[in-house]
Amino acid sequence: LIVVLGGINMDLVTMTDRFPGAGETVVGNRFLTYGGGKGANQAVAAGRMGARAAMVGRVGDDVFASPALQTLVDSGVNISPVGITPDTSTGIAVISINVDAQNQIIQVLGANNTCGDEEEAKVMGLLDGAAALLLQLEVSVELSLRCAQAARAKGVRVVLDPSPVRPLPDAFYGCCDIITPNETDAQALVGMPVTDRETAAQAAGTLLSRGVGTAIVTLGPQGAYYATAEGGEFVPAFAVEAVDSVGAGDAFNGALAVALAEGRDLGESVRMAAATGAMSVTRSGAQDSMPTREEVEALLRQ
Ligand code: ADP
Repeated sequence: LIVVLGGINMDLVTMTDRFPGAGETVVGNRFLTYGGGKGANQAVAAGRMGARAAMVGRVGDDVFASPALQTLVDSGVNISPVGITPDTSTGIAVISINVDAQNQIIQVLGANNTCGDEEEAKVMGLLDGAAALLLQLEVSVELSLRCAQAARAKGVRVVLDPSPVRPLPDAFYGCCDIITPNETDAQALVGMPVTDRETAAQAAGTLLSRGVGTAIVTLGPQGAYYATAEGGEFVPAFAVEAVDSVGAGDAFNGALAVALAEGRDLGESVRMAAATGAMSVTRSGAQDSMPTREEVEALLRQ
């Protein structure tokens, strides 16, 4: 079982020629809705890769609760641990995209912000025999840290995607079997530019010195660099035609956990994760773009 604690959102996307000014109404061209939230995206990725996955998080008691969970259900993820917070909205992102592909985003955390003791208890209840706990930073750092500590105590692998990035207490690093920042997040965590494999290797070294077991810095279309105390290796990206990079990191994390749970070694798992990230950028959307196991295996064979 892959246990995911994290954000569940609904993305509400308008396409418009131009953004309105204050007090102005413009008539847009299209409206699209997508399930989102990094936690939910990673659970969908793990489910599509064929793993048993359980989602722990919260939605509100509004009309967006059910659509926000639909793709999780369709991907075979167990959503019974998802709680409903009364008098609160489901987490949403209101996104406007203009003809120049610029975006304006207002995010409301809503029910995600009400995750707390109940979620900790639910995670605890799922950890026995679990293969991994996947964490991001869309719910409180304190809650995530407590769950990470519980997982460590039970010998369950903790994978942290430190996004949206913010400073982490020292104790959190020591609880991470694996940390998977992208280049921007790695840069924010270590305080030096991260743009290529050399700087990713330096950042990974810093993260290892803070106590993580494995540091993986993802570099978008370049690939990913991973390192442990034994050394590091660069995994180049799979060549694909990129359409929409949203959700690549979530695809990577979900697949990484699945590959490791299947007993693959770290290098092989990072390659499978990179293939999953690559497949996800060939389609638009986040959850909708998560590939199936067959698609990932096909890319790995190429
Ligand atoms: P995030 O979405 O968190 O910013 P990245 O963009 O670094 O994460 O993507 C995660 C992984 O997905 C990368 O390490 C890479 O292996 C793969 N990936 C991302 N973008 C591409 C791309 N354009 N082509 C091929 N692989 C990609």
